[in-house]
Amino acid sequence: MNDLLTIALSKGRIFRETLPLLAQAGIEPVDDPETSRKLILDTSQESVKLVIIRAADVPTYVEYGAADLGVAGKDVLMEHGGSGLYEPLDLGIAKCRLMVAGPETTPRTVRRLRIATKYVNSTRQFYANRQEQVEIIKLYGSMELAPIVGLADRIVDVVDTGNTLKANGLVPLEHIADISSRLVVNKAAMKMKHERITRFIADLKAACNA
Ligand code: AMP
Repeated sequence: MNDLLTIALSKGRIFRETLPLLAQAGIEPVDDPETSRKLILDTSQESVKLVIIRAADVPTYVEYGAADLGVAGKDVLMEHGGSGLYEPLDLGIAKCRLMVAGPETTPRTVRRLRIATKYVNSTRQFYANRQEQVEIIKLYGSMELAPIVGLADRIVDVVDTGNTLKANGLVPLEHIADISSRLVVNKAAMKMKHERITRFIADLKAACNA
């Protein structure tokens, strides 16, 4: 089955924005993951399957070879860390920014700033680079709530329009990284299925430039 390509994708924005690129590369899913309960989707090409998983799991599936390729946000890849994957192509989709945000003014405090985030590693790295000591509180979602209820002074989250921050009385304070979705490739698959994968990358690149 050396010919089979499995591509890991997450539902939602990444799936929606990757779909037209895959279509231009001649790959169209047979089922819609938003309505189907299937986790492995057949496509218009018999030898290409899509694996539908949580966004944060995409790098793990690809690193361990459970999927040959995947599409993941740079935020997720930064958080995953490590050098277990190739990242050959910026797809230029699902763009946003990883930011520190908080209330316009933070009351003075003698204790360390508390930062709520699901991006614990990226946050630790950001403050370590600035040699600033902070306390990081891991959350799994709705980070914007944390400063409102006094759980944290600031948050680190991805920001697109800024509307979610604004609706919760927060403002963007510091820019950590520009984010977009990247194609990632398993290192062993890149060797074993080199021609197939190189062609796929070239097709996707052409689709991105179109
Ligand atoms: P916005 O209100 O447009 O700034 O969007 C902010 C919220 O949308 C964040 O809390 C994220 O949960 C989500 N979001 C926006 N863009 C992205 C993206 N490219 N990847 C993942 N989540 C995103």
